[in-house]
Amino acid sequence: MCGIVGYIGRRSSVPILLEGLRRLEYRGYDSAGVCILTDAGLQVRKKVGRIDAGLARECAAAPLSGSPGIGHTRWATHGPPCDANSHPHLDRSGRIAVVHNGVIENYLKLKEQMVAAGHTFASETDTEVLAHLIGVHYERALARATNGDSHPLTAAVMSALREVIGTYGIAVVSSDHPGIMVGARRGSPLLLGVGQHEHFLASDASAIVAHTQQAVYLNDYDVITVTEDDFKLASLGNGTAQAQIQQIEYSADAAEKGDFPHYMLKEIFEQPRTIENALRGRIDREELSAKFGGLNMSLAELRAVDRVVIVACGTSWHAGLIGEYLLEEFAHVPTEVEYASEFRYRNTPLDKHTLVLAITQSGETADTLAGLRESRRRGHKVLALCNVVGSTIARECDGGIYLHAGPEIGVASTKAFTAQVSALVLLALLMGRIRMLSAQRGAQIIRALEALPAQVESILARNDEIRRIALKYAAAEDFFFLGRQYNFPTALEGALKLKEISYVHAEGYPAAEMKHGPIAMIDERTPSVFLVPRDALYDKTLANVAEIKARKGPVIAICTEGDTEIRSRVEDVFEIPATLEPLVPLLAVVPLQLMAYHIAVARGCDVDKPRNLAKSVTVE
Ligand code: GLU
Repeated sequence: MCGIVGYIGRRSSVPILLEGLRRLEYRGYDSAGVCILTDAGLQVRKKVGRIDAGLARECAAAPLSGSPGIGHTRWATHGPPCDANSHPHLDRSGRIAVVHNGVIENYLKLKEQMVAAGHTFASETDTEVLAHLIGVHYERALARATNGDSHPLTAAVMSALREVIGTYGIAVVSSDHPGIMVGARRGSPLLLGVGQHEHFLASDASAIVAHTQQAVYLNDYDVITVTEDDFKLASLGNGTAQAQIQQIEYSADAAEKGDFPHYMLKEIFEQPRTIENALRGRIDREELSAKFGGLNMSLAELRAVDRVVIVACGTSWHAGLIGEYLLEEFAHVPTEVEYASEFRYRNTPLDKHTLVLAITQSGETADTLAGLRESRRRGHKVLALCNVVGSTIARECDGGIYLHAGPEIGVASTKAFTAQVSALVLLALLMGRIRMLSAQRGAQIIRALEALPAQVESILARNDEIRRIALKYAAAEDFFFLGRQYNFPTALEGALKLKEISYVHAEGYPAAEMKHGPIAMIDERTPSVFLVPRDALYDKTLANVAEIKARKGPVIAICTEGDTEIRSRVEDVFEIPATLEPLVPLLAVVPLQLMAYHIAVARGCDVDKPRNLAKSVTVE
């Protein structure tokens, strides 16, 4: 995680870096820092805590001016959050500064070697070791003074990175070279923003769209040397690096909170639109099926798929679980859902006709990316379901589906989840219609999909109702979320939302599984949120409700509109509109998102930046 940003040009770096870092703060907010090349050499300001409470005040108290400059917002992996561990880090001479996103896995060995050679370190980070290593190579590059056509700073960065095992997106400046800034990536994202007499480096486009719409997305092993008016790409790998300037598809407005107090609430309320966007242009009325522009697979190839393996993490993994039910029901294709972090190190047998589907909001999730690469190495087609255009996974997959949900800034994912599930319904519909799913069923699914945006709207209109329920239970310390079939993953997602943003212990379970152990936890202080739509298993789920009630557990039921039966049996009820069973999660998850939100607000939690978390997990 971590956000990095760099600027070289004729303007003063500090305001540009601070604004860029604010936009990247969702990626990490343990600390923030900048290093500016001023008339007095490299000047570092860094502070633990949020940008506005820490770094911005430091910069206001002792203003800096100059270019180039680099900045960082941290999600700590090595060394706790504190001023000393904040980036930028300097080399031994103090003439080179580095910001880094990623993990240097062999940093201890490198550190030991340097300590033996007399280096002292000011932090516990792996990044400072990299800064020193670049410094060591820089001294050598200067001594050799023959670097072919590469600049001594670039040559030093490249030599250092050849010694490094791990992942990095870095930006480097040196007081010896006021006119250049060097960037490199492997495993962590980095792009170059191209402006008029100025250039930017950034972890993602949000940090720079206010200044330019032109970007070069770096590939792994690319090293870029940037001046005000030019840039040069080199590769650490065998190939030659190609720079392709692309238009950034991202509007700065889309990343504003507007009138909402939090990004998360804004994003929950965007869902009628984002579901519509996920469906737009993808419904095939002729064939009563779905169509996608970018799958890059013929219908014959899709028909030949006899197994799907979905690889994902976190909320995307929950969407994947719903995808499993959908693909098996609509298309009868055996489907498994794997945690990407497990999949990448497991030797899962994949045969020829297995399709791997990676699901990720950011397109940068390190574990999912590794799973994708591993599968492609073995010759499998990998499709990706992802939100961020131009992200690493979007570029490395064989084909895929963009979610078109717009930037998701709230760390707890909401609109990306419903967009993922909408896209999975479409994919399962297509996979089904080229197999045995009837035209009639296809038409039914399409009708139900098209009704969703208005149905979600009607749930959002009753936000106050869910808020009242949330406040009633806001002090509870343990929650269960229970559902069956399609609503088992919805229950997992409801529990995850609550854990993520309110730090309340919550567990999601298949409703009928409770009696095999977890029901021992139930007492009058432990509420259960039950997903009880009027579906084929309604009566069975009611029996599960009764089991909880018999143990004095309070129950909040998310049920189908007009269900009077359940009202008399539980403490609280929230109704959702009727839809097809496989589509219920798309409606049922909305009150769960709102409930988590209101509980977190009531408990005084920082909803958009929950403790210990960051969005876009680009470390392993
Ligand atoms: N490993 C670096 C640190 O702990 C960067 C962390 C990251 O990119 O998340 O400071």
